[in-house]
Amino acid sequence: MTDMALTVKIPERDIPVYTEVDVVVAGGGPSGVAAALAAARNGASVLLIEQRGYLGGMATVSQVPAFCPYTDQIKPVIRGIGLEILLAMKSRMEETFQEAWKDRLDWVPIDAEILKRILDEKMMEAGVKVLYHTFVGQVLQQDGFLEAAIIYNKTGTQAVKGKIYIDATSDADLTYLAGGQFAKGGDDGELQPGTMCFVLNNLDRNKFLSSVETHSHDLKHAINKAKLEGRLRVARDWAGISWINNHTAGFNFGHVFGIDGSNTDDLTRGAIEGRALVEHITGWLREAIPGFENAFLTLTGEQIGIRETRRIIGDYIVTADDFLACRSFPDDIARNAYFIDIHMAKPTSGMTMVRLSPGESHGIPYRALLPAGIQNVIVAGRAISTDRAAQGSTRVMPNCFAMGEASGTAAAILAEKGTRETRSIDITDLQRRLVRQGAWLGEQINERY
Ligand SMILES: Cc1cc2nc3c(=O)[nH]c(=O)nc-3n(C[C@H](O)[C@H](O)[C@H](O)COP(=O)(O)OP(=O)(O)OC[C@H]3O[C@@H](n4cnc5c(N)ncnc54)[C@H](O)[C@@H]3O)c2cc1C
Repeated sequence: MTDMALTVKIPERDIPVYTEVDVVVAGGGPSGVAAALAAARNGASVLLIEQRGYLGGMATVSQVPAFCPYTDQIKPVIRGIGLEILLAMKSRMEETFQEAWKDRLDWVPIDAEILKRILDEKMMEAGVKVLYHTFVGQVLQQDGFLEAAIIYNKTGTQAVKGKIYIDATSDADLTYLAGGQFAKGGDDGELQPGTMCFVLNNLDRNKFLSSVETHSHDLKHAINKAKLEGRLRVARDWAGISWINNHTAGFNFGHVFGIDGSNTDDLTRGAIEGRALVEHITGWLREAIPGFENAFLTLTGEQIGIRETRRIIGDYIVTADDFLACRSFPDDIARNAYFIDIHMAKPTSGMTMVRLSPGESHGIPYRALLPAGIQNVIVAGRAISTDRAAQGSTRVMPNCFAMGEASGTAAAILAEKGTRETRSIDITDLQRRLVRQGAWLGEQINERY
């Protein structure tokens, strides 16, 4: 839609500075909240900017209904702030839920409203200054350093100044605006599809489960049958259902293809097509699935869920080979045990899934968080520097919490030392702090500290 030939000139003007802090965090998803908390707890003054009116990212914005595994199937790999938030959420959910999930850390269903409250509270406790309803849309830079981020909100256009900037926007907006280098999608530009996740209420979980048991075939069977009969228009014979009580479940079901989440025309099409698909799927669930007859559609995501857009080109690019070799790096700041999980880019192509064995994981080095050529920005979350296959694995929320915690801790160390240069970090200091805060960086590093 953008007409590159047509431009307008914005008149030069002075913009008021809203605030000046040690660490500016852009984006309040799993990586941004962990970054802000870690930076504040390590003594930095922190501003967290989020375009919505709440924190949580995909879990709350797009109603992604479950946290991917925190463990390598033997032990927790994601600990620290990510685990703290998971346990806090579990402890406030319904008692029957707590009983069912008490010893489990993998695929825990998300109660988005509880999560929003917990994240608000944690930010207040840690002294993080949160600014909601605010979009970061421009940056000012000089000699490779960001001097200010320009924010847009109801108050107007303002600047925020930080020593270190953490780009947790998941599309690496800050780095993009600063002219950073990127990769996006596969060789032909293909991207994983988006999904409009949704919440259904008025379900009968016991009836659903006993029907599955009695007929010894599950939802997959029903989906395949309906697809063959032309009654259900979905590409994949799988639905992620996450029950948060006996009547309410979140659904990760159905794909919308050809959506680039860093393009607003595409996001708009994703919203419209996504909601239409949810209406169609809900109708089918009511008609076909025992226990879902009276399903009431309570909510769709505020934005279609986006799995993949820009990946920064950083000082190191984590590859599929690193994943398969369970490689460790001297500057590891987190470990990933989740499988490579690349959803089909077209309705006719297949899923790519590659799993590690129980107990295995690979390291995520600090260098993969540093955008080439930019001196005072750390990228955390979905957009870190990886190849496409590795991104299919590092992108999930537990990993984003861990990367966020590392980026925030690093930013606080740098601010404390009075330097803005992210590459000057003392990596042993960073790793020691992360381990002491509860993170797991692999046996070798954890034993050292
Ligand atoms: C359909 C779907 C299903 C998934 N299933 C799972 C699953 O089951 N379990 C799991 O663990 N992971 C799952 N994932 C992956 C996971 O949800 C995301 O990859 C993860 O949330 C990324 O975290 P993040 O912190 O990088 O960014 P996000 O969670 O995307 O958060 C980014 C935040 O930044 C804000 N923001 C963005 N740009 C700006 C800006 N310029 N200014 C201000 N604010 C901005 C956004 O509003 C958002 O709140 C799924 C993803 C999708 C799309």
